[in-house]
Parts: sequence; structure tokens; C-alpha cells
Amino acid sequence: MATVTARELDTTALEGQVRGQLIAPDDPGYDEARQVYNAMIDKRPALIVRAADVADVIAVVNFARETGAPLAIRCGMHNPAGFSVVDDGIVLDLSPMKGIRVDPAEQLATVQGGCTWGDVDHATHAFGLATVGGVLSTTGMGLALGGGIGYLTRQYGLSVDNIVSADVVLADGSFVTANESENSDLFWAIRGGGGNFGVVTSLTFRLHPVDTVIWGPMLWPLDRAAEVMRAYDGWIGGAPEHFNGFLAFLTVPPGPPFPEELHMQKMCGIVWFCTGTQEVADELLAPARASEPVLDLVHAAPYPMVQSAFDALYPPGHQQYWRADFVDELSDEAIAAHVEHGSQLPTPQASMHLYPIDGAVHKVGSGDTAFAYRDSRWAEVIFAVDPDPAAVEGMKSWVVDYWEATHPYSAGGAYINFMMDEGQDRVQASYRDNYERLAEVKKKYDPGNLFRVNQNIRPAD
Ligand SMILES: Cc1cc2nc3c(=O)[nH]c(=O)nc-3n(C[C@H](O)[C@H](O)[C@H](O)COP(=O)(O)OP(=O)(O)OC[C@H]3O[C@@H](n4cnc5c(N)ncnc54)[C@H](O)[C@@H]3O)c2cc1C
Repeated sequence: MATVTARELDTTALEGQVRGQLIAPDDPGYDEARQVYNAMIDKRPALIVRAADVADVIAVVNFARETGAPLAIRCGMHNPAGFSVVDDGIVLDLSPMKGIRVDPAEQLATVQGGCTWGDVDHATHAFGLATVGGVLSTTGMGLALGGGIGYLTRQYGLSVDNIVSADVVLADGSFVTANESENSDLFWAIRGGGGNFGVVTSLTFRLHPVDTVIWGPMLWPLDRAAEVMRAYDGWIGGAPEHFNGFLAFLTVPPGPPFPEELHMQKMCGIVWFCTGTQEVADELLAPARASEPVLDLVHAAPYPMVQSAFDALYPPGHQQYWRADFVDELSDEAIAAHVEHGSQLPTPQASMHLYPIDGAVHKVGSGDTAFAYRDSRWAEVIFAVDPDPAAVEGMKSWVVDYWEATHPYSAGGAYINFMMDEGQDRVQASYRDNYERLAEVKKKYDPGNLFRVNQNIRPAD
């Protein structure tokens, strides 16, 4: 395949075909346009195309294939590995494609490929409905294509479990619809396989009645972290599916609503979530409250407000370093390793989160979608974040040490959306028994591996 550099890419043919903006290295705004959410990623694409519509997507896919230029797909640009930008290639930025149609009667929303979860939650909340997204409003559709874990996951599954249909531009430039009855192999693969199979120009999601929810953090001092982690296992494991809560090691932010005496203290917390009434939530929270947390900020709030509550804490443009695993059980040894490393957060935004993936996720078979770890209990992510590039070395060593200490107690693979660029073995471990079938589907729909700037599934031989 030809190597294309920024200077060699002749875009004349493309210019007459696309309505969206083309940004080349010499254009004003190029440096801003090439940035992604993770400031550690510093790549110089030959061209950035802000697609206006599906026709633009088709033109860019054909152009990339014909020139041999690497192609990166961008939506919310949150991928920690920075897969939404590529050196000397083309960035296909879908973010202008933000159309959403909500069908309240059928409880469906059709969402264009450039939407963020904030866009989706805003549109569906007007009808008292929601689907499963992540816990930040700024992430995009890459989240849904890799799995999709959020507050509604125990009740309504992963984001992929709520996809009923997708429109996809394939590597040969053709446009197809994938669902249970049309291109069902592709439909299986895109539900967890990320951007490996084509550019998803729209997704139709199943919606659920979700309006005001009960949500908020409870905090405990670090010397009670082991006790809280042990109890958390039971608090969540035995709870009904409309109750959720992710566990974290965190530094208390220095501002309201947190009391001044806790500001900047390292603590253990659980961010609770319940779609039941206040009374139902109070009953479910009673065991945690009986353990006397030092802070209890659980309250009623509109769902979109909950979904954007942490946006300001994690703005774009900070250094991000991540490691992840799936976890089946929290043994005493694993808890001890967590407490040791979780107590040494290297930066105020560094954290470890355990997201429950039981409940509705377990009702779908591990081979029913590409997302393979259906029998695990948690998706664990260890991440360090800081605005200062000088913090990176300390961030990296904390994340890697923490991960190495807890990985022996994990299920093996990790959620691909929480991974950095960690090599092919990690990708295969994350798809487990589904990898071979994914490689066959890849061979059918993208034999030349045009869509390779991602957690890559290689076409079968
Ligand atoms: C602060 C933060 C919070 C997060 N919280 C959560 C969370 O709560 N739950 C969770 O599950 N994950 C979460 N994630 C991880 C998130 O799922 C991944 O970062 C994901 O890649 C984000 O997708 P994106 O569209 O924002 O990113 P992008 O970087 O734009 O896209 C990532 C990749 O997805 C693929 N892709 C994106 N859009 C399309 C498309 N339309 N068609 C084809 N391929 C596409 C491409 O391969 C692309 O490179 C979080 C990440 C961050 C940084």
C-alpha cells in the first residue's frame, strides 16, 4: 500500500465532491482541528474532512481507498488511544452530522453518526425517554459501537443491546443497512466491533421511559475503602436492575457541592443511580447509608443533568493515560491491591472506576453480539488525567503499576473503549471467542483493512 505524506496528498478530486469543510495542513484552523480530547496524542493528518452528509462520507471513503491514505473516523474524539486522528492520512470527522429523529410512539431514536450523548439525551428527554449511553455527555458514537456502559446498563443493557438498525458506508463505498434481517453478520459485528467494518452514518436506538432519576455520590475515607469494596459487591450484586452505582477512588474536587473540609482529599466513593422513586431508592440505599459515609449527595435530578455532571471535571485538552480490565470477582487480594494503588492517585483527576456490567447485560449471550465479556461483573478502568504535560511520566507509572497489580485478578481482556494502543494480543483477548468470527466478517466487508485506525480486527487469511 502506498505511503502518503501530508505534502503528497492531492485533494483536487475530492474538492468537487464534498459539501463539508476540507482542512489541509496549510489552512488556518488546522492545528485546532487535528487535536483530539487526549492532549497526549499529537498527530498530523494530511487532510481533515468535516462531512456534511452521507454523500460526503462515501466520497471520502472512496478517496481514502483509492489513494491508500490511512483513514481515521471521528465522532466525539474521546478515544483514549487517539484513534480519531492519524499521521499523514485522512480524518473523516462526522461531528457536523447531528440529525436526530425521535419516534415517541415506537420509542425509537435515529441518530446520525456525529452525535454526542449530550445530543441524544437532549433530544430524547423532551419525550421522557432515554437510551443507554456513557456517564459523560461529550462522548460520541464510538462509545456505542464499542459496547456502551452507563448508568442504565444494569437495567437496559449496553448501548449495543439497544441498537436496532444501523446505516453503514462500507470500504467499497457502498451504502447498506444492517439489522436482524438485513446484513445480519455486519449487524452482529458492529455491536462491539467499533469502527472496524465501515462508517456508521446513523444508528437507531431503542428508548426507555427515563426522566427524573435518583443520583449522586457517597464518600468514605480511604481507611474504610477495603470494607466499602467488600460491601459494594453485595450492595450491587443483590440489587434490582433499576439500581446502579460505580465505585471509584477519587480526589474530592475543590468546590461546591463538596464541603470545604473534604476538598482535595483522596477518598473512596460510589456514584449511585436509580430510576425508581425516591422511596424505592432510599430503601435500596439503606445498607450503604448504614455504613455511615462521610458524605451523601444522592438526590433527585433530571437524567440529562446527571449525564453531564462530570463534563467540567474532564474537559478536552488534558493528558490522559488509561488501562482497563474486565473483572469477575473482588477477592480480598484484589481489594488489597486496589486499596494500595487507589490510595496513591498521582493527579487530582486520576481515578479508578468499577462499572457494573451485570443485570441486563448478562441476559444476552456472549456470542450474540461482538461484545464478548457478558459474564463478567465489572468493567474496570484505571486512568490518570492532568492539564500539565510534565505530569505524564508520573501518570504513566501509576497507571501501569496499578494495572499490573490488579490484572492477575481480572478476567483477562478489557473493554476496548477503555484501552490505549496496547497491541494485537490485547485486542484479541478482549474479543475472546468472538475474534475469529469478527475476522471473517472483516474479510467479507473490509478485506483490505481500510478501517484499521482502531482496536483493529484483522481480516481472516
Ligand atoms: C472522559 C471519558 C469518559 C468516558 N466514559 C465512558 C462511559 O461512561 N462509558 C463508556 O462505555 N465509555 C466511556 N468512555 C470511553 C469511550 O467509549 C471511548 O472513548 C469511545 O471511543 C468514544 O467514542 P467517541 O465517538 O467519543 O470517540 P472518537 O475518538 O471520535 O471515536 C472513537 C473510534 O470509534 C469509531 N467511531 C466513532 N464514530 C464512528 C462512526 N460513526 N462510525 C464508525 N466508527 C466510528 C472510530 O473507530 C473511532 O476512531 C469515556 C471516555 C472518556 C475520555
